[in-house]
Amino acid sequence: MKKILPTSTAGSLPKPSWLAEPEKLWSPWRLEGEELLEAKRDALLLSLKEQEAAGIDIISDGEQTRQHFVTTFIEHLSGVDFEKRETVRIRDRYDASVPTVYDAVARTKPVFVEDAKFLRQHTDRVIKWALPGPMTMIDTLYDAHYKSREKLAWEFAKILNEEAKELEAAGVDIIQFDEPAFNVFFDDVNDWGVATLERAIEGLKCETAVHICYGYGIKANTDWKKTLGSEWRQYEESFPKLQQSKLDIISLECQNSHVPMVLIELIRGKKVMVGAIDVATNQIETPEEVAATLKKALQFVDADKLLPSTNCGMAPLPREVAKGKLYALSAGTEIVRKELAG
Ligand SMILES: [Zn+2]
Repeated sequence: MKKILPTSTAGSLPKPSWLAEPEKLWSPWRLEGEELLEAKRDALLLSLKEQEAAGIDIISDGEQTRQHFVTTFIEHLSGVDFEKRETVRIRDRYDASVPTVYDAVARTKPVFVEDAKFLRQHTDRVIKWALPGPMTMIDTLYDAHYKSREKLAWEFAKILNEEAKELEAAGVDIIQFDEPAFNVFFDDVNDWGVATLERAIEGLKCETAVHICYGYGIKANTDWKKTLGSEWRQYEESFPKLQQSKLDIISLECQNSHVPMVLIELIRGKKVMVGAIDVATNQIETPEEVAATLKKALQFVDADKLLPSTNCGMAPLPREVAKGKLYALSAGTEIVRKELAG
């Protein structure tokens, strides 16, 4: 029998300090060439073993082989010039210098497929692989070719579908698309955002997820959160459309956030990855705090559809803190499992 409340992480985990500078987003690699390839694989294996030891049921790669959850994927595509940069506004929040789309985009080779095969070889547990979603991808680029956010999103959806199909064939059980942009561009989400995600999962037999969050605990995000008021109702805009969609799992943040739990009601019928670990603080949750969040969520999602998780990625956290949080997630989940069984 499958375990009830299978635990997972939303995304990234800290990298070992011999691989990349710790506690930093976009942290540069500390090795190069063959050494770097070998070190990435070592880190992947280590991350897997640490997740298993912490009792995490759905294993991810901890994004050990990528520098950034969006950029690393785009770097593997043709049609994008990383030397030619323009300044654009990311998620309507902060300015960044970004690469330029100068020609038709295409996936000329697999991006993460070899890494996924490697992870599959080394664990019997369910594995989940995260890819950036189309809307979040276009939001990190200057488009001088299509000159249409929607057109570029559809192109990326096709490319993501190619990668997803090969990840599925490599033995990935759940493919997740990260769409923090869904919490910002509500009209686009409803006009074409969810539709492009459905294009990205076309023909897949494995489970599919979308992760929508309020981002890493970096300053631009925490400043933005301060402007959102006492109740964060952003999910209200995308959930009705997602409830109708073909995606199986919705991943959202709940721990220490101002998201009213009742919004989960809007995706009734879907599996819900409930963020019960705050990634914007080094404070490690107690198992009781994790259990309390999960129990609140259980008012709106059936126990067989709840997946305890983290709010977002933990890449910028100190490694020991992230590890402590994984253990807290498992221990807190165990409290709720026992209560449900008893
Ligand atoms: Zn996130």
